Amino acid sequence: MTFEDNEENISGIYNYCDRWCERCAFTARCMTYQMEQEYAIDEDSDDPMRDALNVVGAAFADAKRMLIEKAEEMGIDLDEAMNDPEIDEDIARADNWVESKPAVELGKRYALGVTKFLDRVDEWLPQSDDPMAVEMFRVVQWFHFMVAVQIHSSYRALLDWDGYEDPEALADTQSHANGTAKNTLISIDRSINAWKYLSEVGDAAQIQPWLSLLEEIKPLMEEKFPNAYEFVRPGFDEIETVM
Ligand code: SF4
Repeated sequence: MTFEDNEENISGIYNYCDRWCERCAFTARCMTYQMEQEYAIDEDSDDPMRDALNVVGAAFADAKRMLIEKAEEMGIDLDEAMNDPEIDEDIARADNWVESKPAVELGKRYALGVTKFLDRVDEWLPQSDDPMAVEMFRVVQWFHFMVAVQIHSSYRALLDWDGYEDPEALADTQSHANGTAKNTLISIDRSINAWKYLSEVGDAAQIQPWLSLLEEIKPLMEEKFPNAYEFVRPGFDEIETVM
């Protein structure tokens, strides 16, 4: 039986989660988690490098198999596609469109700035035994890069294969774009709440710029993706039906 055949798994749950598997209630029903466990390197290995290479090789082989199967299913000739200059143009058009969005730019600024800010935590957060401060710091740490990636992915998901905006992706509440945008907004909210708590116990003036940045990004996302909150995330938003 392959991972895809496990009937207990919730299809696509890993597409709209926060990837915080150690805190996730759905590990037993998630294909991605199961694959990661399968590929995990034995901590007691006598040759971790060899094991790591084997794991990477197996992961690539699986990814290649799935890609070929998907391409066949969609009637795509991969050899032809790889040498098609039109596809390069489509990719460039899509990249330019996504990169031109203010929310994408602000997301990048947030991720890079917060990375440096977290490195000098001693300057803005006093050492304490407050478990909530530790938890909120972890939340900020966990989501700061993810927010930027999710914003980028949300906009990217609005484009069709030719790199043009697809109005259906916005209108359909269950589109991948709306699901990714909802996930992004959840990450932003969790980060905002964490920063607010850290502001109370740390140096609020130093923290404020990151809070402001998120508070600037959030309405941009809500305006662009007005249907995002309607998206029903597999598993997470339908707990009663899947538990
Ligand atoms: S759904 Fe849960 S277990 Fe699966 S990848 Fe996401 S966080 Fe990890």
